[in-house]
Amino acid sequence: MINIDSIKSIAVSNGCEVKENEKMSRLTTFKIGGEARLLVSVPNISALKAVLFQCQKENAPIFVLGKGSNLLVSDKGIDGVVIKLDGEFKRITLVEDDTIFCGAAASLASLCRFACDNGLSGLEFAWGIPGSVGGAVYMNAGAYGGEMKDVLICSSHIGKNGEISSLPAEELDLSYRHSIYSESGDIITGAAVRLKRDSKAEISRRMDEYMQRRRDKQPLDYPSAGSVFKRPQGYYAGTLIESCGLKGCSIGGAQVSSKHAGFIINTGKASCDDVLSLIKHIQNTVYSKYAVELECEVKPIGIL
Ligand SMILES: Cc1cc2nc3c(=O)[nH]c(=O)nc-3n(C[C@H](O)[C@H](O)[C@H](O)COP(=O)(O)OP(=O)(O)OC[C@H]3O[C@@H](n4cnc5c(N)ncnc54)[C@H](O)[C@@H]3O)c2cc1C
Repeated sequence: MINIDSIKSIAVSNGCEVKENEKMSRLTTFKIGGEARLLVSVPNISALKAVLFQCQKENAPIFVLGKGSNLLVSDKGIDGVVIKLDGEFKRITLVEDDTIFCGAAASLASLCRFACDNGLSGLEFAWGIPGSVGGAVYMNAGAYGGEMKDVLICSSHIGKNGEISSLPAEELDLSYRHSIYSESGDIITGAAVRLKRDSKAEISRRMDEYMQRRRDKQPLDYPSAGSVFKRPQGYYAGTLIESCGLKGCSIGGAQVSSKHAGFIINTGKASCDDVLSLIKHIQNTVYSKYAVELECEVKPIGIL
């Protein structure tokens, strides 16, 4: 049994906001998920160290939450401490003429806007990805031919034991929707990106163009976690799913979007189990028709 009170008390005395039994459906773009035992919003590095130390002392499992835009959280919730970076971790600073340092809790949207306002190009692809900078580094987020790998020069992190460190991009093992952080479990605290000078008008035009493409192709009116599956070698997941006649197919409140078959939408009251069953159904159907295994990009977490 986790001693939540001791973690709560250390967190509060270090300036964190805490909420017990917080519904994860409020913190995920899928709007799905049961309660997290404890949600701790951490304002700075010293508070983060203190909370991590206490979690380790109490043997409490931790989960680091970004903007919850790539997650499928169990209906039974998360029996552990959900850590959300906040406060100083949202800072964005121009550190050199072409280099921005950004806290992990900043939204990709604010980083993209900051880059554009400073006449710096390279992040246009990320405009419209609803994640945090930490989540984008973790996932090596990408779109329209760009990915974080193209602009990242290094990222800083803290280990579960409290040691602070950083790694250059070359050592982050960045590949398609993958970084070293999925193995290390370290908490990303910030990242530096190097961009190129361009006119603000041109950058802004490209951002608008990408956003329009999203609006045209993606079911943005419904809760979702974006593309459910990774792109299989040589195919597009959405095309395979559509050609199996699965557009509009639903289980409970989970439905294959009729606008973009690569998305599963929550039509209102979808449970995590509905989505998992639909994922299985899609994987089985696509496999029996094309012998292609669809791998989940969305991360199922919690008590499954
Ligand atoms: C409508 C829609 C469109 C999308 N379009 C795209 C797209 O075009 N391209 C794309 O790549 N993705 C897309 N996504 C998916 C998602 O936005 C990205 O994967 C994003 O990078 C996730 O960031 P997040 O902050 O929401 O992370 P979360 O979903 O909160 O977490 C994802 C993973 O990152 C880890 N994590 C988050 N922050 C940290 C941190 N500070 N330290 C360590 N680990 C951390 C979490 O533990 C978890 O394992 C889309 C999602 C939606 C809903």
